[in-house]
Amino acid sequence: MLNEILNVSNLRKYFHVKKSLRDSFHLHGDAQYIKAVDDVSFKINRGEVLVIAGESGSGKSTLARLILRAIEPDSGSIFFEGHDITRKRGKGLKNFRTKIQMVQQDPYTSIDPRWRVMDIVSEPLAIHHLYFSRKEREDEVIKALENVRLEPASEISNKFPHMLSGGQRQRVALARALVVNPKIIVADEPVSMLDISVRAEILQLMKALKDKLQISYIYITHDLSTSRYIGDNIAIMYAGKIVETGPINQVLLNPLHPYTQALIDAVSEPDPNDLQREKTIRLKHGASKTDVGCRFCQSCLYSMEICSEDPILEQKETNHLVSCFLYPKLIR
Ligand code: SF4
Repeated sequence: MLNEILNVSNLRKYFHVKKSLRDSFHLHGDAQYIKAVDDVSFKINRGEVLVIAGESGSGKSTLARLILRAIEPDSGSIFFEGHDITRKRGKGLKNFRTKIQMVQQDPYTSIDPRWRVMDIVSEPLAIHHLYFSRKEREDEVIKALENVRLEPASEISNKFPHMLSGGQRQRVALARALVVNPKIIVADEPVSMLDISVRAEILQLMKALKDKLQISYIYITHDLSTSRYIGDNIAIMYAGKIVETGPINQVLLNPLHPYTQALIDAVSEPDPNDLQREKTIRLKHGASKTDVGCRFCQSCLYSMEICSEDPILEQKETNHLVSCFLYPKLIR
């Protein structure tokens, strides 16, 4: 069996922007497009967690929608278990969608407040025509609820979402994704709307499910502090491009791209002295829409003349790739 489960190659999605709106999007010159996802490539193995990190607007969620085939890419390819699913339609696409599921950020809006937990979790089974008898579907729902540690499952399955806490709701959303036995779960900021005390529980649960069911995750976040707990590899996105990628400890402990350094610098430490610390690089929003050259140019302290050329993702050391003209000088 192929160990590699997903292979995304040179994926690209541009959104056309009307002339009247170009100033609002900081588009300069003749630029007519927002390059939401621009030439993005990565691979994921079975049971592996890839963290995709970046600020809001960096293209993470558009990338997730492309992988889920919710929107069509302009170019590039997506291979799932060795099969090209980039342009798949009809039955082939429906089959693929049982293999990849999504958990959204907000458990208060992602599940229907008028439905009981049983109906919410069994809906994907009905959509994909899995398990025809009602009893079989109910058994699968109970199994999924037990997997996410919502017990007693038969009691919880009769409840409405308003009778559950935020953490329990997110477990229901996770059970809804798990019920069709997916191979990959795309989790878009799955803990960012939860109380701090509940975040660790959900992350622990996701990690345990990964080990138990051999699921791979694409974990999308702007929060690097949670990503290290769950991730194996990380891809840092800025303005639609991956600027640095590699094993998560290697990237977070030895960041080579100035943008990665700025993101890490922005994470608050639980240390009162940290309040006085000068941030090395400040993130500047809305300054990244240049059409040629490094997209971080306008915010980067180390910007040089050569940076007006397009940097490519280059290998610094095994499995650690970085797109910055400065990286050979090891600025840290
Ligand atoms: Fe900064 Fe240049 Fe590196 Fe871009 S390529 S991050 S502008 S040093």
